[in-house]
Amino acid sequence: MSYEVVVVGGGIGGLTTAALLAARGVSVCLLEREREAGGCAAAFGHSGHTFETGAGLYASWQPGEIHERVFDELPVEAPQVRRLSPSYVVRLPDGTDVRVGANGEEFAAGLRAAFPECAEAALRFYGEMTPLAEALHRAAARVPALATAPRFQRLKLLAAEARLSQSILSGLGQTAARHLSGTSARFRRFIDAQLQIFAQTPSDSAAYLYAAVALSQGRRGMYAIRGGAAALVAALVESIRLSGGTVRLDAPVLRLADGPGGVAVGVSLLSGEVVEVTRAVVSNLTVWDTYGKLLGSERTPPEARARLKRLRGWGAYQIFLSADEEAARRLPSDQVLSLADWQEGADFDAERLLFMFSAAPEWDARAPAGKRAVTVSTFTDAAQWFTFHEDETGHEEQDRRALAECWERMHAALPELGAGVEVLETATPRVFYERTRRRLGMVGGVGQTLEAFGPNSVTHRTSLPNLYMVGDTTFPGHGVAAVTQSALIVADEICRRR
Ligand SMILES: Cc1cc2nc3c(=O)[nH]c(=O)nc-3n(C[C@H](O)[C@H](O)[C@H](O)COP(=O)(O)OP(=O)(O)OC[C@H]3O[C@@H](n4cnc5c(N)ncnc54)[C@H](O)[C@@H]3O)c2cc1C
Repeated sequence: MSYEVVVVGGGIGGLTTAALLAARGVSVCLLEREREAGGCAAAFGHSGHTFETGAGLYASWQPGEIHERVFDELPVEAPQVRRLSPSYVVRLPDGTDVRVGANGEEFAAGLRAAFPECAEAALRFYGEMTPLAEALHRAAARVPALATAPRFQRLKLLAAEARLSQSILSGLGQTAARHLSGTSARFRRFIDAQLQIFAQTPSDSAAYLYAAVALSQGRRGMYAIRGGAAALVAALVESIRLSGGTVRLDAPVLRLADGPGGVAVGVSLLSGEVVEVTRAVVSNLTVWDTYGKLLGSERTPPEARARLKRLRGWGAYQIFLSADEEAARRLPSDQVLSLADWQEGADFDAERLLFMFSAAPEWDARAPAGKRAVTVSTFTDAAQWFTFHEDETGHEEQDRRALAECWERMHAALPELGAGVEVLETATPRVFYERTRRRLGMVGGVGQTLEAFGPNSVTHRTSLPNLYMVGDTTFPGHGVAAVTQSALIVADEICRRR
């Protein structure tokens, strides 16, 4: 078979690209290795519960933002979303809760109460950052492919933000920590915890402008999706099919076929079948796997190889719980980001001290009556789950230890849960690897340090002129909204909306 475009991988990135291209009249075939599409956004069922892999916090569903822009082109309805209030709560080591949401007065009062030692500096930090984040949102709405836009276009965007242009230019080369002077070590940890979740790296390494956008998400308003991210996956699959595109499940791609002049001419499947393309191949694999597997290391240019070695990603360790409705209601929010220790005088330790508790909303409990499906996510060094195991029992033992630690940490931080929760399942980086084939089961994109941000971003372009990448390891970064933007960028580059 031959298509204009073949998309390899049916995560949010691949599905959105295929849905947009199919709606624009391009002949598209999406090949997904699993029996179900969705990748990191796929749900899974256990004992009458339907669990989200993610934290259930979705940005940019406001009118006019990226999701509306995409669904405006598609022949299907967008999934139903509801705004969360607050977006999430950060629980600090002393038990204080800071509600992060769109209500500015409540947020300011929360900061003053939690950080009296540096309240003015903390408010100034947010006060300086918020207009920058808004300017970057406006710029991305006009030119989604900011990282590869021609210089004149970027200058035009800067000129449109004349009042902020100097701060944007200087912010490009700075870390978030640079802007935290005058704040206390405690406040910096409050910022570190959020940046670790939304930028995959804490303030001393997070690029300031990325941090501005990441920290503003909760303030602008975040949403829950009825049915979770899996409902978005289902809508995109339906859209591709309604527009005449092809979605093939259970279709693992082995490698890219290239022709004369180093142009992609198709892909070979594990079954031996070759699917030909006349226009482009879009890889929804991570940047490591696009080069390492699809292209193959022998065809990866040395500079790309060196770059890939420097990029860092995290693994996730998760527990999936059944929570009593009463226990869930006792918490200050369905999403609680917990920080267990201030770690003063030490480097930020994401692995031992942080977790995200995410309960399905009461109006969409995804569980038997009186229960709610809950996902608890922690960070872990992915590589250590792939070494030191002589057999499967080694992995199971490591899983048991991680579960015991996570369980204890969760109960210490959230005593309201009491005996109202029960563990149903866990997921380690090896499980993520099995489900998505991402390198070492690393999820959540790459840490948005200065090395991986702005002019240094991994963009959608590759060393082959008609091989593109979409997904959370490419610009603009991690999260469903960013991945959707990466898909719009690639769809626009292949075939603009008429
Ligand atoms: C613990 C956790 C919590 C998160 N919480 C949130 C949240 O609350 N809000 C939010 O917005 N985002 C969240 N995210 C991030 C978000 O889920 C991901 O960034 C996003 O789903 C990634 O999509 P993707 O398209 O980049 O890739 P993936 O989801 O990795 O999809 C890639 C697809 O390619 C397929 N594939 C791989 N190899 C092959 C092959 N050889 N042939 C064919 N197919 C192949 C895989 O099976 C997979 O389906 C979270 C992520 C994690 C891990």
